[in-house]
Amino acid sequence: MPNTSVLVVGGGFSGITAALEAAEVGHEVFLVEKSPYLGGRVAQLNKYFPKLCPPSCGLEIQFQRIKKNSLVNVFTLAEVVSVTGQKGDYTVKIKIKPRFTAPFAADLSEAADEIGSGSVNEFEFGLAQRKALHKDMPFAYPARYVLEKDELSSSDAEKLAENEFIDLDETEKVIEVNVGAIVMATGWKPYDMTNLTNLGAGLIENCVSNMQMERLASSHGPTNGTISRPSDGKAPKRVAFVQCAGSRDENNLSFCSYICCMASLKQATYVREQLPDTQVTIYYIDLRTPDRYQKFRDRVLSDEGIHAIKGKVADAQKGENGTVVLTVEDAVAGTKSKEEYDLVVLATGMQPTLAGEKLPFDLPLDEEGFIVGGEDNGIFAAGCAKKPLDVMKSAQSGTGAAMKAIETVRGR
Ligand code: SF4
Repeated sequence: MPNTSVLVVGGGFSGITAALEAAEVGHEVFLVEKSPYLGGRVAQLNKYFPKLCPPSCGLEIQFQRIKKNSLVNVFTLAEVVSVTGQKGDYTVKIKIKPRFTAPFAADLSEAADEIGSGSVNEFEFGLAQRKALHKDMPFAYPARYVLEKDELSSSDAEKLAENEFIDLDETEKVIEVNVGAIVMATGWKPYDMTNLTNLGAGLIENCVSNMQMERLASSHGPTNGTISRPSDGKAPKRVAFVQCAGSRDENNLSFCSYICCMASLKQATYVREQLPDTQVTIYYIDLRTPDRYQKFRDRVLSDEGIHAIKGKVADAQKGENGTVVLTVEDAVAGTKSKEEYDLVVLATGMQPTLAGEKLPFDLPLDEEGFIVGGEDNGIFAAGCAKKPLDVMKSAQSGTGAAMKAIETVRGR
C-alpha cells in the first residue's frame, strides 16, 4: 500500500488549496513554505480577480480551514532538502530555519519598536524598511513575529535577549516525513526589473513595477494606500503603464505572463478612483483579457481618463522634477514621440520561482523554469509552477493536483 500522506511544497494560494483538498478527505498533509507566512503572492496584492476583493477575504477563510484541520502540518521558514524513494513511498527531509520567537502569537510590537536594527522590506518590494523583528504581513498565518538574528546590532541583541518571548539560541532543525505523493506549488516571482534598464527599472525611482504598485495602493502598504511617487510622495498627475515589460521578449521572458494586462487595467482603476484628475495611459502590444475579463477591459477603457495606445515603449529617461520621459510609438497613428509622466508602472511578468534554482530531486523543467513532468513519479505541479495563471485558475490547478495526488496515494 502507498503511504497515504501528501507533501505540498509552497504555501501560496494553489498550495494551500491543494493541502486543504487532500486533508479534508482524510489525508495527512505536510505543507512546506520557505517564507515566514502562508499566502504567497496573493498576500501582497491590493485586490485580486475575479471579484476585486482584498487578499484577506480569500486567504483568511483558507487560514481558518487550516487551523481547524489537524491533518494539515504547516512548516514555515522551511524547505525541502532531499527526496528519496519512489511514487507511493517517499522520504522527505525538511530543513526548518529558526524563527527565534515564541511558538504562539505573542505580541512583540513593543519589542520591535525598541530596536533600531533592520533592513529593506522585501514584502513591500523595497518601498519601505522593516525592523529585524517583524511581522510584515498584516493578517499573517502563522500570526508570529520573525526575528532576523543576523541583522541585530549587539545592543539590540542584548535588549531582545531579556524578552521572554524571544529565544536567541533557537537552532535550525531537519525533520523527516514520509509521503506517497508530492504537489509542487512553488509559485512565481516577479521578473527581476533590474534587467530592464532601458525602461528605467532600478535606475529611476518613479519607475515602479506592477507589484510595487499593488503595495502603493494597499491600505496595509508603505503609504497606507496613498498612490504617490516614491521620490517625493507627491500625487502623480500623469501615470503610464508599460505592458510586456520583460515578457514576450527573447532576451528576457519569452512567454506571455497572462495576467499583467489585467493587472494594469485593474491598477488604472486604483489610480482613477483615488485621483480622479489624473490621466492614465497604457502602452501595449496586445491587451490580453481572456474569457469573461473582456467585459472588465471594456468597462475600464470606457473611462475617458484612461487611454490605451498600441505601441512599444523604447526607452525611459529621468526628466525634470522627478518625471520620467518615455520614448513611445503609436503603432496605429504611425508616430514616435517623447512623453513625460510623473509615475511609470512597468507591467513586469511572472517568472516561475524554480527558474535558476537547484532542485533537491529530479524534476523536469522547461527552459523558462516551469514544471513539465513528474506525474509518472507521483509529483504534480500546481498553480504558477506549471504556467502563468490568475488566482482563480491557480486555485483550480491546486485542486486538480490534489485530486491526482489523492488517486496516487490511494493506489488508483
Ligand atoms: Fe504582455 Fe499582456 Fe501578456 Fe503581460 S499579459 S505579457 S502585458 S500581453
